[in-house]
Amino acid sequence: MDTQVTHPGHQSDDSSMEECYQRALTAKIVRNALLETIVESLSMTRQIDVMLEILFAVPWLSRHNKGILFLVDETAKQLILAGHRNIPEAQLNQCAHVALGECYCGSVLQTQETQFISSTQKEAHCTILSTHNSYRTPLFFHNRLLGVLTVHLREGHPYLPDEEAFLIAIATPMAMALHHRLREEQLRKAEAKIRHLAYHDVLTGLRNRQSFDDIIDSVYQKLQKHTRRGNDVWQNQAFLAILDIDHFKKVNDTYGHLIGDEVLVTFAHLMEQTFRGEDFVFRFGGEEFVVLLVNLTEEQAFAALDRFRQTVDNHAFPQVNHVTVSQGAIEIISSEMPGTLMEKADKALYFAKQNGRNQVRFYQTLVNEGAIVEANFGSEDNVDLW
Ligand code: GH3
Ligand code: MG
Ligand code: MG
Repeated sequence: MDTQVTHPGHQSDDSSMEECYQRALTAKIVRNALLETIVESLSMTRQIDVMLEILFAVPWLSRHNKGILFLVDETAKQLILAGHRNIPEAQLNQCAHVALGECYCGSVLQTQETQFISSTQKEAHCTILSTHNSYRTPLFFHNRLLGVLTVHLREGHPYLPDEEAFLIAIATPMAMALHHRLREEQLRKAEAKIRHLAYHDVLTGLRNRQSFDDIIDSVYQKLQKHTRRGNDVWQNQAFLAILDIDHFKKVNDTYGHLIGDEVLVTFAHLMEQTFRGEDFVFRFGGEEFVVLLVNLTEEQAFAALDRFRQTVDNHAFPQVNHVTVSQGAIEIISSEMPGTLMEKADKALYFAKQNGRNQVRFYQTLVNEGAIVEANFGSEDNVDLW
């Protein structure tokens, strides 16, 4: 690229010495201010805003109060406009994405140096420069280009070695700040991923058993508030159901484990689609799932579970085609421990399995009908659990 650089020559009078000294001092103050921002807890967007604020508070730069800070998108090999100072809307669109190597801003990677660009050097598709001179500074940290800083100057403003030296001096702390924020963002994403993995089932993406423990606690809290204060949270009850796919072993034996996995994934999607947004669906392991239905009556809970049973019954699963599910349900009573509720729901599920599968059974109904005996879970007398 044909870059025109103008050297105004050195002035030697006292006032210019004084100005030189002031600029060197300003550069140090700006460097320190930029370094200080690194230890603050800022988002990337805020970091960039603050850096531009600091930069454009420099008196001799504030007279040309326009600039852009680009971040490098290494994957897409482009610069992304991440912050700016007084750039008009139309021009922002033009500079939103700049391919590396393209335009003056994009070409910084090739030279890897601060450049002074004169407005007489026309770039076909860069209208921003039509009346501006400008500096472009690459922001390198550990030999990695993280960003490009563009500082626009007034028309006719000459190249000044002091300005170039200043921009070079602040490029490293700016790049350090970007590096720090990028690392923080990476860490945040990694933590979110780990948290997601800890609370979700890898195969189906549903919440897992670990997540159940936290959510059931919050359900108990809401139920207790409901009991104590005559309800300001839920009008109705909450229910827990264990869902177990029928004869799933046969699916694996007949079609193979991979098709079995596909059935599990499809089953999980059907759960997400069929139950309401406020309900909680979990995979507990194998072909066993749990749903927490909140703020509804027993009739509504039965209707929701039976609707899901029918959905599965009527769904054409890939290859396997027909799959059914048995379910054991119980009302969540805040005086009963989650483990006890699970055992009772299991008992209702066991009854459903023993009595033809593809059905929903409620524990209390079975007890009331005399179909099963009210269990005293937790006592040593009762070891008849499946
Ligand atoms: P029932 O109707 O009584 O529930 O019979 P079932 O065959 O569904 O139950 P059983 O407990 O005998 O078999 C469950 C099977 O689920 C056995 C196991 O290999 C399979 N399984 C457990 N986890 C996975 C998994 O992640 N993927 C696949 N494909 N199969 C699994
Ligand atoms: Mg099963
Ligand atoms: Mg099972």
